[in-house]
Amino acid sequence: AAVEGFDPEDVEGAIEAAGHGPLPVLAVVGRPNVGKSTLVNRMIGRREAVVEDKPGVTRDRVTYEAEWAGRRFKVVDTGGWEQDVLGIDASVAAQAEYAIEAADAVVFVVDAKVGATDTDEAVVRLLRKAGKPVVLCANKVDGPSGEADATYLWSLGLGEPHPVSALHGRGTGDMLDAVLEVLPDAPRQTFGAGGVGGPRRIALIGRPNVGKSSLLNKVAGEERVVVNEMAGTTRDPVDELIELGGVIWKFVDTAGIRKRVHLQQGADYYASLRTAAALEKAEVAVVLIDAADSISVQDQRIVTMAVEAGRAMVIAYNKWDTLDEERRYYLEREIETEFGQVAWAPRVNVSAATGRHMEKLVPAIETALAGWETRVPTGRLNAFLGELVASHPHPVRGGKQPRILFGTQAGTKPPRFVLFASGFIEAGYRRFIERRLREEFGFDGTPIHISVRVRE
Ligand code: GDP
Ligand code: GDP
Repeated sequence: AAVEGFDPEDVEGAIEAAGHGPLPVLAVVGRPNVGKSTLVNRMIGRREAVVEDKPGVTRDRVTYEAEWAGRRFKVVDTGGWEQDVLGIDASVAAQAEYAIEAADAVVFVVDAKVGATDTDEAVVRLLRKAGKPVVLCANKVDGPSGEADATYLWSLGLGEPHPVSALHGRGTGDMLDAVLEVLPDAPRQTFGAGGVGGPRRIALIGRPNVGKSSLLNKVAGEERVVVNEMAGTTRDPVDELIELGGVIWKFVDTAGIRKRVHLQQGADYYASLRTAAALEKAEVAVVLIDAADSISVQDQRIVTMAVEAGRAMVIAYNKWDTLDEERRYYLEREIETEFGQVAWAPRVNVSAATGRHMEKLVPAIETALAGWETRVPTGRLNAFLGELVASHPHPVRGGKQPRILFGTQAGTKPPRFVLFASGFIEAGYRRFIERRLREEFGFDGTPIHISVRVRE
């Protein structure tokens, strides 16, 4: 595409960068205190992962975007999860299972100073079973004298141990090169062209006790078919095929919903990891909110996770059977203030107990998926942008008026746009464009990404 004032190659590059599909996922697993969070911090080049967190503190953020040698991927950090009542082996194994399930490749971190422990061996067995590519990180090799410690880890049978000091950065570059060699370009879960290729995948998410398990039982009824994708293994995450509205849907990771896992410390974190794993596998998230209860920070975080994962989203307000006049009034106010940013998400008011409005769930999900897959032809987009810029020009700043010159939709699932401009476009104007795009083209139930390229 020729865009006035832009190098055609840059334009191509910008469109390609903006249109990238879902990113491959790398999980970082290992025992507590081996340095997983420190390593993740290195990878994302920020001090965002929470190494200094106190035990038991809720950590909802578990996936981060990282880039190495020009390639982008997601990192799932399983650090910060404390040992719980299940005992250390079981807890490390459970956390690793979720992370491995969601991942396309795994970095297994071992403390080279301590050497391989029984727990490490247990994780190795899980890794074998999962069959995902693994890079072995021999951490805490802070100097040349530690290299020998790393050599002992050949005994784990995972191939070459990469000596690393996550703390000082030593060896991390070489290790990341090895990671990129085994990490696929695209996630294992490809969405399939035009929505064909297997049942659509739904993640039913929400904080504990909102009614996920009840809802799943209600919609599943007698028709339930349980499928374990990896037949013959005892892995935890289970996807279920459920017929709704005459169509088969795949509810992902339902085992964690049905099974009551009683955890104390780290339970919230465990739930977040499960949510992140389910979102990775899903196309659409149904976020369940307990309408009887005030909308909480945790509810908001879960909604944010779904948006940041770039999934289509429906918000279902459950336990509608219990609401009185007064609660309904306050609920509407709360929705306005707390969920104003996601007013685009289709909403259903349901009761898993009575079955109220279950039939509205499917149309809402279908609407969200349609928005998620919408593609606006370039001609139509530019006719719309031209009108918008003429009727509502960007405010003049410093005697200049930045203009949108051209736009194109670089990708779908979710929709991604790249706009080319003659100057810096303010956040307020970007939001205005997003609002108008939604009014014009729909996009109900989907986040949309807009990136702006400015002519130098
Ligand atoms: P996690 O529980 O596996 O996420 O481990 P953390 O990243 O929280 O690290 C546990 C402790 O090991 C912290 O005190 C880190 O500073 C320390 N640590 C992490 N990586 C290294 C390293 O490469 N060398 C040394 N000497 N210490 C490290
Ligand atoms: P989960 O932790 O999100 O899976 O929540 P559950 O499905 O276990 O539900 C938590 C509690 O809320 C249980 O006691 C359910 O019986 C109750 N519950 C779930 N849905 C409804 C509903 O629509 N109405 C009422 N009154 N109670 C519900």
